[in-house]
Order: sequence, then structure tokens, then C-alpha cells
Amino acid sequence: MTAVNLLDFDLDGLAAYCEGLGEKRFRATQLFRWIHQRGVGDFELMSDLAKSLRAKLADRAVVQALPVISEHVSADGTIKWLFDVGGGNAIESVFIPEDDRGTLCVSSQAGCAVACRFCSTGHQGFSRNLTTGEILAQLWHAEHALRRRMDTAERVISNVVMMGMGEPLQNYSALVPALRAMLDDNGYGLSRRRVTVSTSGVVPMIDRLRGDCPVALAVSLHAPNDALRDDLVPLNRKYPISELLDACSRYLEAAPRDFITFEYCMLDGVNDTDEHARELLRLVQGRVPCKFNLIPFNPFPQSGLKRSSNERVQAFARVLIAGGLVTTVRKTRGDDIDAACGQLAGEVQDRTRVLQKLGRRPKPVRVTTVAGTPADGQS
Ligand code: SAH
Ligand code: SF4
Repeated sequence: MTAVNLLDFDLDGLAAYCEGLGEKRFRATQLFRWIHQRGVGDFELMSDLAKSLRAKLADRAVVQALPVISEHVSADGTIKWLFDVGGGNAIESVFIPEDDRGTLCVSSQAGCAVACRFCSTGHQGFSRNLTTGEILAQLWHAEHALRRRMDTAERVISNVVMMGMGEPLQNYSALVPALRAMLDDNGYGLSRRRVTVSTSGVVPMIDRLRGDCPVALAVSLHAPNDALRDDLVPLNRKYPISELLDACSRYLEAAPRDFITFEYCMLDGVNDTDEHARELLRLVQGRVPCKFNLIPFNPFPQSGLKRSSNERVQAFARVLIAGGLVTTVRKTRGDDIDAACGQLAGEVQDRTRVLQKLGRRPKPVRVTTVAGTPADGQS
């Protein structure tokens, strides 16, 4: 009999599991707190659980952490973990400390089937969905490893962004319990506003998320018209921009924030002209309350694409800001592409390259907001 992984459950799921063992719901709550709030995976240490329950759990359940292949700490405190998910697949999580928050970028799949042209995960193809336990294990490990390192009992991670490897809304059934555990006061107690699902635009699942577990939503737009978006984000052929924007409007009826974040990867000569920016304004103005996050492209050889110059990115941002859109630019420093959110684990399927990476010192990556504050326009 394979052991049940308790990281696979949100609190309701754990309660149902415990009921199956003849235990009351409050026992599940205690267990959930031990696991997620205190980072304990050894049932023996769960001192307020009856010995009989601990023995039952030890017989049939585990708290299954993911093996860490590597951990890179860069000069500005950004930490990247590479986790082994078996079968030659690895995934990454990145912790980004800032003055007022700590953000963890989490993966939802090994590989990705959407195959966006500018994304190295997309170029790898799709391996498999992560389980709820594998999604939560990233947060579980990061949060408790950081607390131990900082010698604190306080929460370190205040924000989660589902912007690692994979398309979270194509792994919906595993995603939702993971989100619920992140939000649960007996789990990580994160605010709905501080948990962000990033999607390339799986329209029906945006609608389901609105009903099942509304959290902050980021939509990877990358183009102001269908012709260009069909090429960059192939899923657009199935769910074109107008349907996507309608889904965004519907989502806002239930969302914890009153705007959608549109991510826009800046590709030299492809989607980065002033005319593209004006077209974007025409597309979204008066239609979807939104903010723009411009992401300088992290180049990788097979893409055949280049990063827009800083001047171009700034000029593009100025057009959006002048049109009243709050616009931020995500800055990656130097040529360090390895720890940048959204460019995760691009090389992990090839173990040789993983090992090469282990011997390489990462350069610092900084994420800063250089343009646009709520004062610049609508918020
Ligand atoms: N699949 C989801 C979430 C993971 S990708 C999505 O597409 O939204 C997270 C973000 O990183 C997306 O906005 C994606 O477009 C962006 N991204 C992917 N590859 C990138 C690259 N090479 N450079 C910059 N951003 C990239
Ligand atoms: Fe998948 Fe997102 Fe990469 Fe597109 S950008 S291939 S949806 S991970």
C-alpha cells in the first residue's frame, strides 16, 4: 500500500481523510497546523495528537517533501530551489525578498503544453501535471527552510505567485486545493490579494476559478491583437483576446482586487513599438480595469527572439502611462536568466546541464518597479 501524502489535501480534504480513520474534524485542524504552520512532517513530534492517531498516521501516511537538487542564493537575497519530481523532471521555485514582502514563485507543471514562443518551459514540451502535494511542497519547504535560516517563528512568505513552470489553469484540480491551503488560516493564512494565479488565458478555467477560489489574477497578454497573439501564445487560437477580456471582466466581479494584471513580455521588434502600445490602450481602455507589468524578455538560444532595449521598454511604458494605465516594469539585472520568475527550470530536463548549472555562481537578480505607481493613473 502506498502511503497517502498529507500535502495533497486542503483542510476539508484532510478532515475527510481523518474521518475515514475515525477521527473528528478538530484533529484534522491540529494536524494541518502541525504540517503547514509549524513545518513538522514527523508524526511522532505532534505532541498534542493522541498516540493512537500518531501510530495510525505513521502506518499509512507521510508528509512528502520534494528532494532538493540545488539551492542558489544570489547577492540580493533571491533564492532559487530546484526540486526533483522524478522521472528525470525537475521544477523550480524562486523566493524574492523585498522590503515589505516576501514572494514565492511556484511551479504548477513539469513542462507546459501551451508552447509560447518566448518561453523556455514551453519549448521543453509538457511532461506532467504536478500534484497538489508537489505544488504545496514548494511553499512548505521554502517557508520553513527560510524560517529556520532566519531563526524566526514569524511568517516569511507573504505572497505567492503561480508564475513558475507550467500553466496553472491546465492543472486545475490540483491547483485549487493548493490555493485553499495557502489561504487557510490554519495553513499559510495568505490573503487572497497576495496569492496570484498567472495564466496564458484558459477562459473556461478563469470562470471556474472565479466561483471556486477567487484570488488575484494575472493574464499573460503579450500582444495587442489576435494575429500576433496567435503566434506568440498558441492558446489564443482557441480563446481569442475578446473572449479572454470578457472572462477578465467577469472574473473581477468576484476577485479580491479590482483590477487584472496584464503581463507583457517585451520582444524586440515583435510586440514593442509605440503603435503596439497604442493598440493595447484601445483594446483595454474602458473595457477591463487593469495594470500592466512589462517583462523584459529573458533570452534563450532556441527562441530566436531578442529582448527589447531598456529605452524601448521605457518608451512603451510611457505610452501606456500617458493613456492612464498603471504600468510597472519588471527588471532583471545583468544576464542572469536563471532565477527570473517566468523563466524557470528551462534546462532542467537535461540533467547534464543541471549539473553544469550547479557549478555556476548565479548573478544577482533584482525585481524593481521603475515606472508607474497608483498615482500615475487608475488603480
Ligand atoms: N503559464 C502561466 C504562468 C507561468 S509563466 C503564464 O503563462 O502566465 C509566468 C510569466 O513569465 C508569464 O507572464 C510568461 O509569459 C512569462 N515568461 C515566460 N517566458 C519568459 C521569458 N523568456 N522572458 C520573460 N518572461 C517570460
Ligand atoms: Fe506555458 Fe506560461 Fe510558458 Fe506559455 S509562458 S509556455 S503558458 S509556462
